[in-house]
Amino acid sequence: MLKTLLALTILTIPAAAQIDSGKVALVGARVIDGTGNAPIEDATVLISGGIIQAVGAKNVIRIPADFQRIDVEGKTLMPLLVDDHAHLGQTINGLDPSPDAYSDENIGAQLERLLAYGIGTIAIMGTDRDLIYSLREDQQAGRLPGAHFYTAGRGFGVKGGAPGGAGAAWDVNRPETPEEARAEVREVAAHHPSFVKIWVDDSYGRAPKMKPEIYRAIIDEAHRHQLRALAHIYYLNDARSLLAAGIDGLMHSIRDQPVDPEVIASLKAHNTLYVPTLVRDESTFIYATGPPWLSDPFFRAGVPPAVLDKLPSAAFQQHAAADPDLGMNSDSLSMAEVNLKTLFDAGVRVGFGTDAGMPGRFLGYFEHRELQLMVQSGLTPMQAIVCATRTAAQFLGRDFGTLQPAQRADIMVLDANPLEDIRNTEKIIAIWQGGKPIKPISPQQ
Ligand SMILES: [Zn+2]
Repeated sequence: MLKTLLALTILTIPAAAQIDSGKVALVGARVIDGTGNAPIEDATVLISGGIIQAVGAKNVIRIPADFQRIDVEGKTLMPLLVDDHAHLGQTINGLDPSPDAYSDENIGAQLERLLAYGIGTIAIMGTDRDLIYSLREDQQAGRLPGAHFYTAGRGFGVKGGAPGGAGAAWDVNRPETPEEARAEVREVAAHHPSFVKIWVDDSYGRAPKMKPEIYRAIIDEAHRHQLRALAHIYYLNDARSLLAAGIDGLMHSIRDQPVDPEVIASLKAHNTLYVPTLVRDESTFIYATGPPWLSDPFFRAGVPPAVLDKLPSAAFQQHAAADPDLGMNSDSLSMAEVNLKTLFDAGVRVGFGTDAGMPGRFLGYFEHRELQLMVQSGLTPMQAIVCATRTAAQFLGRDFGTLQPAQRADIMVLDANPLEDIRNTEKIIAIWQGGKPIKPISPQQ
């Protein structure tokens, strides 16, 4: 029966095979398919035309004669990661904001670095300029290598308030009336972004926060244009009010207090995406003492030497330690971890994001660190992987994010099993994007 089903699966996907003749069989690995199902040991994955044609135990899947057989015995295959909350073009070296960072050259380099780290797809959360739309055309035409991206275009903040701080390019809308907000949403919608991003935060009470009448207008106008509205949040009460206004995603953790049954019920009733971005919170205090991962070769491989020298320096750490918010930021991460466990166990739709790409939040490495922090919060490695693959992907599209037939062949090959230790997602020995081999980042041990 199983054999028949699989054979049918192969036969019913003819279109892709005509696009690209690359027919490959990856044979002998453990497959974590991203759905949460138990891994398939000693598996065969058939790829043709950039699409997965079949996945199953080696003794069940027949390899057609014209497929190139690649031995991956003892390795682990899993989907490329999907980051629902990232930024591009904010910094060139990863650490310092730069007005020159928003260029096609730098954004292209960042997309390639992401892919080399095993990140197949990202969603850019509201810091884009119009250049992103021509880059999107390039990507869709196959002219732009690297991770695939979705964009919220130009986001919505507050005059004199969020977003602010270290970003290089806070070129966002800051409407002062609901009418202005609606007009600006229409302007953004004309570019056909994938969603609309708003910031609802007061920086620990120091800055004005977006008024409810403004975000209600933005959310409503976005929905009129069939666009989802996604929010930067911090407080439980803002989350509650945004949920009542129809927000489609909370793109950071609720981290001022424990979540309550009402908010849990609301998140579930609306199937709202909840994206923890724990590593973002870690980055707001960890540089004061030096992150333990500064010595991780996998981190170091993607960061310029000058930045590697600067991060552990006394001057840099003292500067970070002088931040009056340090204690509050550290408490916020602890609260975020508690809330993640509560929400996940309650059945809330937990996606995956990092806020990487902002200064000090390193694209590529931070996604792997986020997985580790999710596990530290009490999720199993399998649960964290499903958040970062199937759940994160299905928020963006339907044809990638799991290793199942008819999905894009976005695969990473690991030298060790991440279900035993989530840090094993760093042991990337091969990457396939749409069935094409891509050179992974190579750490110097
Ligand atoms: Zn962000």
